Amino acid sequence: MIRITVWNEGKHEQEYEDIRLVYPEGIHGCIAGFLKKEEDFIVRTATFYEKEHGLSEEVLQSTDVLIIWSHALQEEFSDAVAERVRRHVLAGMGLVALHSAHYSKILRNLLGTSMTLKWRHGDRERIWCIAPTHPIAAGLPESFELPKEEMYGEYFDIPKPDDVIFLGWFAGGEVFRSGCTFTRGLGKIFYFQPGHEEYPIYYMDPIQQIIRNAVRFCMPAAEVRRELTNKEHPPMEQEN
Ligand code: ZN
Repeated sequence: MIRITVWNEGKHEQEYEDIRLVYPEGIHGCIAGFLKKEEDFIVRTATFYEKEHGLSEEVLQSTDVLIIWSHALQEEFSDAVAERVRRHVLAGMGLVALHSAHYSKILRNLLGTSMTLKWRHGDRERIWCIAPTHPIAAGLPESFELPKEEMYGEYFDIPKPDDVIFLGWFAGGEVFRSGCTFTRGLGKIFYFQPGHEEYPIYYMDPIQQIIRNAVRFCMPAAEVRRELTNKEHPPMEQEN
């Protein structure tokens, strides 16, 4: 079984009627909804407004893969909770960061660069799968179109990814590394660009397939998950 926590800031859906119409259960509710259809997924949700943003030590200890969506409260997010998430990722917890979570404290702390990019509202995007053998690309077509999405363009200031799986092309001419994997410590990380809150992106089949694949890819093997420590080690022959 894969234990998943879907974390969403949850602010836009409360404040704007038009966004609530797109995501009446919140973005977290929509994502949890399609993930729950998988027999081997155990899914729960959390939002910014819960105590410790719903990401207590206990919750993270029992999470195999954390999915995050954030936008308006990036700076308000607790430094202590961001550090706690970082520690769990280094110890093997998987992380899937969606759309504007590129600029979350969690991702900035883990990846270390400015995470800045170009953006513009309301464009058409075509997503190209440029690593068809990667597990996150399983079952995906060569390309698919998002009729309306926020443009995210290069240069995207990320460290060199392990793999770039999806390349986004926008009708305005820009391109973007839309789906990238990273490893930090023992943890696998997938960043995926689509998912602006005004458009019904997370209802689309290929998007749901990518998120399902990403969860399975980022799931740590049982023997992997452990806190890494700096420790004196005896010569191998003295070990029993
Ligand atoms: Zn957006």
